[in-house]
Amino acid sequence: MSNLDRRPAAQQLGGLAATTAGPALDLLPGKEVLLGESTRVRRLLPTLGRRMVGAWAFVDHYGPDDVAAGAGMQVAPHPHTGLQTVSWLLEGEVHHRDSLGSDVQFGPRPLALMTAGHGIAHAEQSPVVHPRFLHGAQLWVALPDAHRDTAPAFEHHATLPGWTSDGLTSTVLMGSFGGATSPGMAYTPLVGVDLDVAAGADVEVPLEPDCEYGLLASSGSVPGEGAPLERGAMLYLGTGRSTLRLSAGEASRLLLLGGEPYEEHLVMWWNFVGRTGQEIADYAEQWNAESARFGAVVGYDGARLEAPPLPPVPLKARGRER
Ligand code: MN
Repeated sequence: MSNLDRRPAAQQLGGLAATTAGPALDLLPGKEVLLGESTRVRRLLPTLGRRMVGAWAFVDHYGPDDVAAGAGMQVAPHPHTGLQTVSWLLEGEVHHRDSLGSDVQFGPRPLALMTAGHGIAHAEQSPVVHPRFLHGAQLWVALPDAHRDTAPAFEHHATLPGWTSDGLTSTVLMGSFGGATSPGMAYTPLVGVDLDVAAGADVEVPLEPDCEYGLLASSGSVPGEGAPLERGAMLYLGTGRSTLRLSAGEASRLLLLGGEPYEEHLVMWWNFVGRTGQEIADYAEQWNAESARFGAVVGYDGARLEAPPLPPVPLKARGRER
C-alpha cells in the first residue's frame, strides 16, 4: 500500500532518545487516514506519540471493510526506497505487481515481503472478483544504512513457521519468535508475529529484554500485561521485558512487533525513507522523471501516482546523521 496523502508530513525517525529505558504501557490509539477515495486505515506508526518500534517505521491497520459492492483496494504504481513492505492479510485478496515483474495474488496467511532497497515501484489492487471483506495490516521496516541501497526484491512465502500452545497460535512473519524463524529476509534484529488467541486463553509469550515491542489488536480486544487494548489500537510495551502476559476474554488476533531500538536517524516522506532531505528530494524528482531507479510496473491499467510537492521547509534528520 502507499501513502496517498497529497500533502504528506515529513517524519524524523530513529535515535535511541525515542526509546524508553524499561517497560512501558503506552496506549497508541492511532489516527484515521483516508487512502484514496475509499479505503480508511488506522495509522499506528508514526504518530505523535511514537515514531518507531525497533525497525518498524510504519503501521497501518485497515478493515474489516465490506468491499463486496466496490473496487476494494486500488493503489496505483508508486515508488519506495530504503525500506521493506510487509503485507499481512487477515481477510481478502490483493493483486501485487512490481517493477521486478512480480505478478502475484495473495490472501490471508502467506507473507508478501517487498524489499525496496535502492528503488522499486509497485501497484496493489483488489482483484476484480474478490472476497467480501478486506482486513489486514501494511507495515514498513526501515533498512539500516549498510543495506538500504540493496537491490530490490520480492518474496512470497506461502507457509510460515509458528507454534500452538495453551490457546495461542503464533505465526512468525519476520525474525524469530519462540524458536520459530521466518524465511523472510531481515536486515536488523526484529520480530513480527501474528498471535491468534482463543477465548479464555491466559498465556505468557517470550520477549527479548533488549528489544522494544508494540502490540496491535487486529480483532477482538485483549489486555496486554493487564492494560486494556481495543481493536485497532496499539500498546507500546517499551524494553526490559522477558515475557508478555495475554489474557483474552474473547477470541483475538494480535500483531506483536518488536526489535532492537533503532539507533540511526531517518527521514521519511511520502513513500521514501532516506537520511537527508536532499536525498528525499532527489528520489521524488527521479520518480516524477520516470528514472530507471524505480523501473516500471507492467500490466497495471491506469496512471501512476505522481510524487506530491515537497514541503516548503527542508527535510532534516533529527540529531546526528549516521
Ligand atoms: Mn507501497
